[in-house]
Amino acid sequence: MKCPKCGFDAQEDRNWCEFCGEPFRKEKPASQLNQAAKFIEGLGWKILEREWKCAEGAVDFICRENDVLVFIDIRFDPSGSLGPSKCVLDGAARAVALKLARKFLESRNVPTHKVRFDVIIQTETATRHHRDVLGTK
Ligand SMILES: [Zn+2]
Repeated sequence: MKCPKCGFDAQEDRNWCEFCGEPFRKEKPASQLNQAAKFIEGLGWKILEREWKCAEGAVDFICRENDVLVFIDIRFDPSGSLGPSKCVLDGAARAVALKLARKFLESRNVPTHKVRFDVIIQTETATRHHRDVLGTK
């Protein structure tokens, strides 16, 4: 989809533009999120929030794996074209991810916490899970 702010040809199903950081307000289908929720519960993680939103953007799931808060972006990939490198949060997407995590921690009054950013990709037939997708720049 084209980013409405900068016109960048952003990846389908992202929560925000990876070029300028503009949040996309597109709702994800409940069936897709339900399937992801089952997958997450199957990992034994506790789901704290589903479709958490603030002025700067949205996170599909916020979970807890032991003492780590995990922010999860659900992406639907029917063509199977999203390899691990396309899941990395770099640049503006990285900045937005960190900002959202900080907002969430502030809203919960948790000043410091270990956080991680994961992506769960659903293809037509399978679910793939990429851990720790935050880029370094
Ligand atoms: Zn943009």
